[in-house]
Amino acid sequence: MASAAAISSSISSRSLLYRDSKAALIASIRHPEPSIATSAASGGPRPRRMLARPCCAVEPTKRNDSVVPSAAVAEAANAAVGEEATAPSAAVDYEELNKALENASPLEIMDRALDMFGNEIAIAFSGAEDVVLIEYAKLTGRPFRVFSLDTGRLNPETYRFFDAVEKHYDIHIEYMFPDAGEVQALVRSKGLFSFYEDGHQECCRVRKVRPLRRMLKGLRAWVTGQRKDQSPGTRANIPLVQVDPVFEGVDGLGSLIKWNPVADVEGKDIWNFLRTMNVPVNSLHSQGYVSIGCEPCTRPVLPGQHEREGRWWWEDATAKECGLHKGNLKQDEAGKLGTNGNGVAVANGVDGTVDIFETQAIVKLGRLGIENLLKLEKRQEPWLVVLYAPWCRFCQGMETSYMELAEKLVGSGIKVGKFRADGDQKPFAQKELQLGSFPTILFFPKNTYRPIKYPSEKRDVDSLMAFINALR
Ligand code: SF4
Repeated sequence: MASAAAISSSISSRSLLYRDSKAALIASIRHPEPSIATSAASGGPRPRRMLARPCCAVEPTKRNDSVVPSAAVAEAANAAVGEEATAPSAAVDYEELNKALENASPLEIMDRALDMFGNEIAIAFSGAEDVVLIEYAKLTGRPFRVFSLDTGRLNPETYRFFDAVEKHYDIHIEYMFPDAGEVQALVRSKGLFSFYEDGHQECCRVRKVRPLRRMLKGLRAWVTGQRKDQSPGTRANIPLVQVDPVFEGVDGLGSLIKWNPVADVEGKDIWNFLRTMNVPVNSLHSQGYVSIGCEPCTRPVLPGQHEREGRWWWEDATAKECGLHKGNLKQDEAGKLGTNGNGVAVANGVDGTVDIFETQAIVKLGRLGIENLLKLEKRQEPWLVVLYAPWCRFCQGMETSYMELAEKLVGSGIKVGKFRADGDQKPFAQKELQLGSFPTILFFPKNTYRPIKYPSEKRDVDSLMAFINALR
């Protein structure tokens, strides 16, 4: 068996050869736009050269030979981007770089990221299909680091998957754990499942966000598996590369770079790639799980359901970021999360918002009306009622479909109503009407006492009709 030093030296030589051949190649390429190196040469701040150093997760002695042919692929890919291998610099305009990478493949983007940041970048691995990032990193032929957040609440299948990935790629994942004292305080004061009662933010903050913050504080860049198609509510605009709007790197806020190489890739293409490359996958996927997180907060989805419907299903779609990618939430939404998840600060009628769902086909229920509806054991007719707040843009978003549905149901024997459940009414609505977030839609069946909560985030007419038809 080759000695550690020999293997290490062999990898360094490969790395040099790779850089030399790339330099020759680059010399013959006409750059489509000013490169980072150009800005430095023209008098801008001098780029800080990253020396290739052994990384923590992937010791040079542990790399296997599969990186050799892959490096050629990565080289060709980088040439296609038409950019010189460069080190990160304060002069880099990441918005411009994001535009320049628009047509680059995930492999090219990963190669660029690893090349720029060397040992000071790490891949965030959740234990789901973002294993694709590790595969791309391997294909670049460059050393790379991988970290994961062990929240203590993951499925056993996910832990086994971590092990399989470590063995498959011959790497050590850098696990980050929550602070024991913080977990202890949370669980002792609120129990093991407080997130079902008051939202997932607090638990995620303790078990995920703070450990992540600690990890990122030691890095200059990180790589995530976020995709636009994962969540139309929160991820529709994620760039390929950006200055992280939330987390700090080694040099403080505004210094950390976030790479999202598969932002533009669709889930089905990720899966085709994983299958083609024979990459190990989490066995939960074969049980109907698509997006995978902690065990109590993840469930399988049905055919046709969006993958994020399997995460924190008791909450509103727009709040479905655990805090790891909170920058995806727009300021007003984040602000509402900062209050209590439902915008109490603007819910007390001080905002002067005009009411919504204004049509004769929808009955406006006051507190007494909804209480009576709740008490009736034998209703003459079933009711569909939306619990709403007029300032809530998701309530506003479903206004057209809900009004159209109400018009459709006129004369059908089904009544459609609305109950403004913010402000003073909120505690009552939370306690008696299953209000989690706005809008909450309830069906009061004809002969049953308890209302049934509409479980989906699809609020189009057809989906709501399907719900009613199944229960009427
Ligand atoms: Fe806690 Fe659920 Fe967040 Fe995991 S996903 S950290 S269990 S709230």
